[in-house]
Parts: sequence; structure tokens; C-alpha cells
Amino acid sequence: LVSRKKKAEDTVITVKGVEFGGASPILIAGPCSVESYEQVRAVAENHVKRGLRTLRGGAYKPRTSPYDFQGLGEEGLKILKRIGDEYNLVTISEIVTPADLELAAQYIDVIQIGARNMQNFELLKAAGRLNHPVLLKRGLSATIEEFIYAAEYILSEGNSQVMLCERGIRTYEKATRNTLDISAVPLLKQETHLPVFVDVTHSTGRRDLLLPTAKAGIAVGSDGIMVEVHPDPDVALSDAKQQLNIPDFNRFVDELIASGLYKG
Ligand code: PEP
Ligand code: MN
Repeated sequence: LVSRKKKAEDTVITVKGVEFGGASPILIAGPCSVESYEQVRAVAENHVKRGLRTLRGGAYKPRTSPYDFQGLGEEGLKILKRIGDEYNLVTISEIVTPADLELAAQYIDVIQIGARNMQNFELLKAAGRLNHPVLLKRGLSATIEEFIYAAEYILSEGNSQVMLCERGIRTYEKATRNTLDISAVPLLKQETHLPVFVDVTHSTGRRDLLLPTAKAGIAVGSDGIMVEVHPDPDVALSDAKQQLNIPDFNRFVDELIASGLYKG
């Protein structure tokens, strides 16, 4: 069902007037974790000033250590709902368990299935039974074929509003957090009709590489870029090292526009 052979035209998913997979690439930006109403509001206010429409933020954080911040849970989803309504933003947040999906769909506009759950087949099937857009991230060590089949699980249950996100894969390379597989973008665009995004924050794990990888992602045909921005990254409860502060984020957006690859 995800195959281009089955459907030649690009799938475009329209949420609150924002086109995912439409004519122009978009930015999906926001903090790693939802930490408070004020924290998310600071990002949302800047989004509105910059004409950005899509806000990400994690409420359920699948952390490597059980002792690290695990997210605000439903409280975080409520914050996203309130801010999405107040600022007319499309909200995206990760859900990690099938039991939370229906509730989450009432709070957020796009359900994210994260890298660690790309092959959580019960979660994929349950997301497939929703009538709600899903952003599926590539697994930590998933092949393109496994990634495509994971998306197929969602479509096979009836939900065709699926978008893909390349977020880097595990390799021997230690200079970056993961290795951004740039060729995954044109491959996924050739093999499937789904929108494809590039997460520059989790793939590189390095602020100095966000702009060049974002340019590369758009240049090879992605439908947009995911990037993390936090009002005060130094005190962020997750991914403090690679989130941009708001002035640096605005410079990132300006430079992407100046490159001609992104229209703003
Ligand atoms: C995220 O986007 O918040 C996240 C945890 O990313 P990933 O699942 O790609 O590691
Ligand atoms: Mn993060």
C-alpha cells in the first residue's frame, strides 16, 4: 500500500491548513521534551513570529536510562493541546504504547512513533486503526526495507495518513550521534508515495551540523526538516547538548531561506 507502484501520486497530508508532502518543504520544530507551559509557549510565540506552523515536543520520552527524565505524560499532551489551539499550530508528539493512542489523538494533531518503537508491531497496528496522521521514525538500526514494512503495518490497518522520518542510523562512526543516511530520502521517495522528513537533531547530535544537513535533506528531496529548539537548552531536561536556543534557531531558519532551498 505504501508503494509508488500502487499509487503514483505523492501523498499530501493536510492538517490545520499545513501540507505535509505538499509543494514546499516545511520545518517541524520544537523542544525535545515538553517541560512546562511557559517553555513551550516561548517556542510557539517565536514560531508565530517566524510564520512556522508545526510544533513538536515529547511528552513520553523513551530514554536510554530509566533514571533520566521520562516526560510529563498526559500533562505534556494537555500543554500541547492548549498551545496548539492558542497559536493555531500543528502539534506532533511521540506515543509509546497502544493504550495511549486514542487519548493522545484528542490532544495532538500528529502522532509520532519513535525510532525505538519502529518495529513495535502492536503499536503500529493500533496506530493504523486511528483516523489520525502518524509520523514514523526510522529505527536505530533499521534497513530501508524494514522501515517501509513498518509503514505498511500502519496502512494495512486502514490509516493512510503516514509520513516517514529519517533520523540517522547506528554505524561505527562516533563523530556524530548517529549517521544520517541521506540516500534514504530519495530512496524512500522513489519506493513510496509518503512524505519524507529528515531529523537533523537526532541524526547528528551536533549543533554545528544542523544547517548543512538540513540543506542536504531538502536538496535531495525531503518534504521538510525536523529540528529541536528550546528557550534555554542549557537547562533542558533532555538533549541539552544539541537543541538550538531561539536566536540560533532563527539564524538557522534565515540561513535555510537564504540558501533558496526553503521558502519560509
Ligand atoms: C524524538 O524525536 O523526540 C526522538 C526521541 O527521536 P528518535 O525516536 O528518532 O530517537
Ligand atoms: Mn531530542
